[in-house]
Amino acid sequence: MKPPAIIILTETSIKVARQIQEGINSAMIYGLINRTQSADLSYTNFGETVRELFQTGTPIIGVCAAGILIRTIAPLLINKNTEPAVLAIAEDGSAVVPLLGGLQGVNDLARKIASALQISPAITTSGEIRFKTTLLSPPVGYQLVNPDHAKTFIADLLAGETVKLIGKADWLENSQLPFTTDGKLTIDIRDHNSLELAKPSLNCLVYLLDNGNSTEDQKDLYPTILGEENPISPPETGLNPGKLAIVGTGPGAARWMSPEVREVLETATDWVGYKTYLDLVESLRKPEIIRHESDNRVELDRAETALDLAAGGRSVVVVSSGDPGIYAMAAAVFEVLEKKAKPEWENLDIQVCPGISAMQAAAASVGAPLGHDFCVISLSDILKSWETIARRIELAAEADLAIAFYNPVSQDRTWQLLKAKEILLKWRSPQTPIILARNLGRKGQTVTIKFLEQLTIEDADMRTVILIGSSKTRMIQQGEKKPWVYTPRHQ
Ligand code: SAH
Repeated sequence: MKPPAIIILTETSIKVARQIQEGINSAMIYGLINRTQSADLSYTNFGETVRELFQTGTPIIGVCAAGILIRTIAPLLINKNTEPAVLAIAEDGSAVVPLLGGLQGVNDLARKIASALQISPAITTSGEIRFKTTLLSPPVGYQLVNPDHAKTFIADLLAGETVKLIGKADWLENSQLPFTTDGKLTIDIRDHNSLELAKPSLNCLVYLLDNGNSTEDQKDLYPTILGEENPISPPETGLNPGKLAIVGTGPGAARWMSPEVREVLETATDWVGYKTYLDLVESLRKPEIIRHESDNRVELDRAETALDLAAGGRSVVVVSSGDPGIYAMAAAVFEVLEKKAKPEWENLDIQVCPGISAMQAAAASVGAPLGHDFCVISLSDILKSWETIARRIELAAEADLAIAFYNPVSQDRTWQLLKAKEILLKWRSPQTPIILARNLGRKGQTVTIKFLEQLTIEDADMRTVILIGSSKTRMIQQGEKKPWVYTPRHQ
C-alpha cells in the first residue's frame, strides 16, 4: 500500500491530522495553501489533488465531510478491484467513515485511525460485522481469485447459508463464519500447485496462498483456472457504455480548431492528454470537466485510461494537437483496442475528429509547397529504426516527392537531421526551397524559407515542422511582398 495522504482544508484540522499520523506513520498531511500553515505538503486545488491521488492509487484520508469526497471522486469510480481506500474523518475527530476501497483494506485503515483517535470506526460492510472477517480483503499472503463472485457469496451467507472450508487458514478458522462440513457454499484455499483443481463460482470462493510469486504471474493464471464457462465478468459499473472521441485541436489554439472538435470538447465529461495540449484548450474547459493529464511518452497508458473511463459511462475526449491521426493518439487508441480487447470496450462509441495538421498550416503560411505529390516522414527513431527512416527519405527523394518532416530533432536526437540533408542532397539541388515552421498558431510563431544547402540543426526543435520542396517547387515574387513558395500541379 502507498503511504496514505491526509487531506485537510483548514489549520484547525491539523491536530486531528497529527493524531491520525501517529497511528499511521507513513501518512503525509496535505494542507490547502493559504488556509493551513503547518501541513507537510501544500496543495492549491482540492478536487484536482484528491483525484490525482486517487488515480495514482494513494489511500485518501479526508478530514472533511463525506459528501465532498464522494462528489469529488465519483466520476473516477470505474473498477472497485483497484480503487484505493478513501475515508472521511469528522473535523473534530469524532467519526471515521470508510467510504471506498473495501478490497484495499479500508476497514483495517479505519480501525487504525479510530484507535489513534480513541473512537469506534463506522464500519458499514455487514458481512464483516457479522462474521468478524472480510472475505473481500484477505490478510497479506492470500489472494481472492474470484472477487466478482464475492458479493453474491456474502449475500448468501448473510441470508443464512453455511460454508465448507477446503484447506487451512487461521484467519478464517478464527472468524465467526458459519462453517459446517456439508455447507452449500465453499471456501477453497489453494497454492499454485493445486490451483487448477479449484472451481471458482458464485458458490465457491477460491483463495490463492501467495508463496512469493509476483502479481504478474498470478494474473496469467486467471484464464487457466477460470476456463471458458466461467469468464471473469467486466467491472460492475451500473452505467451505460460511454463515448470516446479522439480529437485534433489544430496546430495552435482556437482559430484553427474545427467546430466539431470544439463542440465535442465542450460537451465532454473528461479530457485526457499530454499536459501541453490540454493547456492549449484550457480556456474552453468548464469547471466540471475533469482533466487527466500525462507525460508525452506514455501514449498507450493514456489510451487505456481513456477507454476505461469511457467504458465506465463517461464522455471522454482524447486531445491531440494538429490532426489526431498523424503521429498522434488515434492510432495509439486503436493499438490498445486491438491488443487488450477488453470485453467492456466492445460497445463503446468511438469517434475520430480531424484537425489541421502542422504541415498544412506551414504550407498555407508560405503558399502551396505541397501542391503536388508529397509524403510525410517522422524523424523520430523511438518507434522505428534509423535504417527504416533513412531508406524512406532516400526513396522519397528519388521519387521527387515534396517531403514534410515531423519530429525533426529532440534533446537527445540531433544528428539525424543532418544525415537526412545529406541523403536529400544526393537527389535534390542545393537550391531546393525548404520551409522551417515553428510554433505555428502559437505564441512565438516563426516561418523561415531557406535553401536546402543552408539547413542546420539550429533551424529546428521539437516544435518545428520542415517542408522540403520537390525539384519543381519554386519561389515567386508578388510585387514588393514577401516571396511565395509553391509546387505546380503537373509532373
Ligand atoms: N498530430 C500532430 C503531429 C504530432 S508529432 C499534427 O498533426 O500536427 C509532433 C511534431 O509535429 C512536432 O515535432 C513538429 O514537427 C510538429 N508540430 C506539431 N505542432 C506544431 C506547431 N504548432 N508548429 C510547428 N510544428 C508542429
